[in-house]
Amino acid sequence: MPELPEVEVVRRGLERWVAHRTVADAEVLHPRAVRRHIAGPDDFAHRLEGHRIGTPSRRGKYLWLPLEDTDQAVLAHLGMSGQLLVQPHETPAEKHLRIRVRFADALGTELRFVDQRTFGGLSLHDTSADGLPDVIAHIARDPLDPLFDDEAFHQALRRKRTTIKRALLDQSLISGVGNIYADEALWRARLHYERPTATLTRPRTAELLGHVRDVMNTALAVGGTSFDSLYVNVNGESGYFDRSLDAYGREGLPCNRCATPMRRRPWMNRSSYFCPKCQRAPRVTP
Ligand SMILES: [Zn+2]
Repeated sequence: MPELPEVEVVRRGLERWVAHRTVADAEVLHPRAVRRHIAGPDDFAHRLEGHRIGTPSRRGKYLWLPLEDTDQAVLAHLGMSGQLLVQPHETPAEKHLRIRVRFADALGTELRFVDQRTFGGLSLHDTSADGLPDVIAHIARDPLDPLFDDEAFHQALRRKRTTIKRALLDQSLISGVGNIYADEALWRARLHYERPTATLTRPRTAELLGHVRDVMNTALAVGGTSFDSLYVNVNGESGYFDRSLDAYGREGLPCNRCATPMRRRPWMNRSSYFCPKCQRAPRVTP
């Protein structure tokens, strides 16, 4: 699954190559790619035609294209393997091309949704007054959003009887933090993933949020170098994963801070990577 920085790289690519273009026609090549659009492929294509795309927006890992002069937006679900590509018309169709959107201009490029496994797709949704698609109204702002409320987040942590990694992945509290970036931020903050959130002081919460933002901004800086080309890689291997990980995937390797071998533990059908020395497990109170 792409995480927030990869999705933001895609959003920037779409802003550059697709925003403010008017849709000439849309072609659905595989109905499964629009299965979330209940009215079906023909309705999906018909509703796009003749409308101008607004500025692509994102909240957490959710990405959408507003349709100007309507109260609707196209929500992109990237799933495991979904990609949004901007390609010249003459480029042969990709093997797993699912949706093609042509524009009513002479720029010579079109938007393609390519998805090998077809877990992803595009769907149209009504938007609220602030432009948010209704199906993601419950998703909290993400930590890179200027309107994210640090104090409200801290208060929610204090109130909740949960642990810190669960809270970081709770999309109703904070969106866009996935398993990889959670482990990275917790390692930087020297916090164990099972730490009860009620024990976090305000400075600890502030420090943790700072690390979450640093990790994401670093990934963005790496991924941001690739969106300048015509090819918009929406499933974003940003390159960050290869170079800069301090925790995730490093089981048995020395901690980059104290050289203690890193550990991996099963966690909610996934894994948590941590340094047993830098990130002490919370004491269990009898
Ligand atoms: Zn360590």
